[in-house]
Amino acid sequence: MTPEHNLIDSVQEQVRRLSHAVLDLLFPPRCVVCHRPGSHLCADCLAVLPTLSGPLCPVCALPVEAPGICPRCAARRPSFTRVRSGYVYEGAVRRAVLAFKYNGRRALAAPLVDALSAVLPPPSPLPDALCAVPMHHLREQERGYNHAKLLADELGRCWGVRVLPGEALRRTQPTTRQVGLSYQARQSNVKGAFEAERRFVEGKVLVVVDDVCTTGATLDACAMALLRAGAAAVEGVTLARAL
Ligand SMILES: [Zn+2]
Ligand SMILES: [Zn+2]
Repeated sequence: MTPEHNLIDSVQEQVRRLSHAVLDLLFPPRCVVCHRPGSHLCADCLAVLPTLSGPLCPVCALPVEAPGICPRCAARRPSFTRVRSGYVYEGAVRRAVLAFKYNGRRALAAPLVDALSAVLPPPSPLPDALCAVPMHHLREQERGYNHAKLLADELGRCWGVRVLPGEALRRTQPTTRQVGLSYQARQSNVKGAFEAERRFVEGKVLVVVDDVCTTGATLDACAMALLRAGAAAVEGVTLARAL
């Protein structure tokens, strides 16, 4: 990206922030869960979000009966070292994520990442960079934003870690939506759908950020592409884990 592009991007970002601030003044935000005015996600709703806890598979964060790796990860180890999630993808978390993704409530990125940071400490040592799960450019144009990029930017600010530019990891195929697909179907749906650029990722320890981890197939495919391009290690962080 050229310096001109960077400047245009940052001016656009400033304008966007300003217009959001004006809109918030004119139409005060309402809590996405209980619809109370005053904030995008109110303190009462934040306090009762379902956190992900109990014995979890150390690789894919799926709840397990006894501490240890889950049968699926034991049978086939994913490309990522591990994935960590803050919440269970249900109830208020699900409503907030859906509004954030599909109803244009992009202002939810900040409160959602604040909520995530409250229950999920940053990795120690910190990674070299964060990387958002990319959308295909046509779908991103349609939606107007990549929700995973908004989350990665917020998380990067919280952790003090930079976020790789969009060219570092691209989605080369407009994959069909994963919703409703089986584990195997999800895997073949996203297999080879991503391409990473060596100059951004070589030798780096990376954390890939997404909203929800369902089977881990998307994060697995991203990690595969990043490792193929020379990344040293890849882990995933998502706001929520679908069970
Ligand atoms: Zn609320
Ligand atoms: Zn597992």
